[in-house]
Amino acid sequence: MIQKQRGTIDILPGESEAWQWMEETIKETAALYGYSEIRLPTFESSELYKRGVGETSDVVQKEMYSFEDNDRRSITLRPEGTAGVVRSVIENSLATGAMPLPLYYLISCFRYEKPEAGRSREFYQFGVEQFGAQNPAADANVISLGYDIFKKLGLEVSLEINSIGCRHCRPKYHKALHDYFDACKDELCDTCLDRLDKNPLRILDCKSPICSKYAADAPKTVDYLCPECAAHMEELKLYLDTAGIKYTVNPKIVRGLDYYQRTVFEFISEDIGSKSTICGGGRYDGLVEELGGPHLPGIGFAMGLTRVMLALKAAGKLPEISTAPALYIASMGDKARLKSFEISLALKKFGINASFDQVGRSLKAQMKYADKIGARYSVVLGDSELEAGKATLKNMADGESREIDIADIQALAEVLNA
Ligand code: ATP
Ligand code: MG
Repeated sequence: MIQKQRGTIDILPGESEAWQWMEETIKETAALYGYSEIRLPTFESSELYKRGVGETSDVVQKEMYSFEDNDRRSITLRPEGTAGVVRSVIENSLATGAMPLPLYYLISCFRYEKPEAGRSREFYQFGVEQFGAQNPAADANVISLGYDIFKKLGLEVSLEINSIGCRHCRPKYHKALHDYFDACKDELCDTCLDRLDKNPLRILDCKSPICSKYAADAPKTVDYLCPECAAHMEELKLYLDTAGIKYTVNPKIVRGLDYYQRTVFEFISEDIGSKSTICGGGRYDGLVEELGGPHLPGIGFAMGLTRVMLALKAAGKLPEISTAPALYIASMGDKARLKSFEISLALKKFGINASFDQVGRSLKAQMKYADKIGARYSVVLGDSELEAGKATLKNMADGESREIDIADIQALAEVLNA
């Protein structure tokens, strides 16, 4: 038997309804903030991610699913959404219209990682990117969208923010970090040793216990911000206070990708494991230029839906969603089955799901089936019912029955909808 690949998941009927509910809730909230969906390819040139995600990120260094296609081009399955969105915004000149440009996507991403709870090789993300707004108001509005989504889903999360400065203030900070980590470089993991000269900021994000132990006492970005970056952060706090959104400043947040500057943030859920990031984002004002586009500020986040679903389950916040039909129309004989098909179609015009026998079962087996699928009502059609034009509608829960007129679909729909 062929089995699914390690680190992939099957979302089966019974679970998929909860996923649909979660995604609908998210989309409705995004629409309230004026976001439009953007749908993009699942694979792009490897070069896009190397440049867009950054050579020193874990994603590019260790996690990409890359392969050569038949034309010997290096292709990568998308490990995240931002780089593709920026590519598309540039390629389709989307930034020439009204600004800001608010976009969202619901996608699966691929990363070659060691699978564990909340970490898979194909996983789902909801992400937003907004271009063309540099003011901290934009940062607050994006964060507020994430916050509102969690509120609507019924999840308790905490928000952590930080500023990692800009290209003016970061060199000084890099130097301070470099000096700090240089003193303990014999203890750093190999990847971080390599990052020490290239991008010491990345070391703060390393998950190895030794590197994170040293990272705890490392110099803090917020102590090195230039006046503009410091003012940006203070103003963001003011906006968040106005929105009534609680946050803490966590100087260790640098985000796993290279292109962020100034604001970075994470939403943390305590429902899965001790502490887990279910959404991360930030501002990336240099990225569009980096990928060959105009100067265009951007800010966004990516929400890990696989983890959001785990958190919803753990917190007992998944709603009861029934896919059971309102009515099961049992039939005896071919003529009655044809009629039951006709009635089931007529009821759909009233928004009602009625199921009928498509297998050719005995009446006893049909009633067992109606019970199994949880139909709320049942009715039995045979030659005598067809002749009389009347049948008996039975409430499956309490056994109560009433006579119905087979031809009066509207009256039947009213009973079923009541
Ligand atoms: P982590 O530190 O957990 O590896 P990351 O920094 O690599 O996360 P991002 O690239 O910022 O994650 O992706 C945004 C969100 O996508 C994460 O906060 C997380 O919820 C989710 N995510 C990332 N990688 C995975 C994965 N392999 N499986 C499931 N969800 C993931
Ligand atoms: Mg990661």
